[in-house]
Amino acid sequence: MPSKKLPSYLTRLKEIRTNLLADVEKNFKISQSEPPEPVADITDDAARIYSNQLMTNLGEQDWEKLKQVDEALDKIRDGSYGNCANCDQPIPEARLDVVPFAKFCVECLSKIENEPHSSTNSPQNTIPGEMV
Ligand SMILES: [Zn+2]
Repeated sequence: MPSKKLPSYLTRLKEIRTNLLADVEKNFKISQSEPPEPVADITDDAARIYSNQLMTNLGEQDWEKLKQVDEALDKIRDGSYGNCANCDQPIPEARLDVVPFAKFCVECLSKIENEPHSSTNSPQNTIPGEMV
């Protein structure tokens, strides 16, 4: 990673971090300030639970992103910023310009995203020649 562009990534990461923290705090305050109203009927309750879950999910996504931003900031400090966490190849600057907290190069990311989740579909059940 050429150090020339590092300060601009650092600035952007800090900006993203500040915005995320503000969002997280806002969501937290909204969920905290919701009064524990007595539940009138089941429909109201379901709607309330749904909106709470939505809020929690948003929060989790924000925390996840915040974690990635923090990791990127750590990498800037230890000098490994801009390298793919999987193959250790430099992540193209064009990608870092779009996602300054990118952890993987595009190739590894698409591999990870396309990885089949085969935990429920175990291949041991269909070994040929075992059924005699
Ligand atoms: Zn990679």
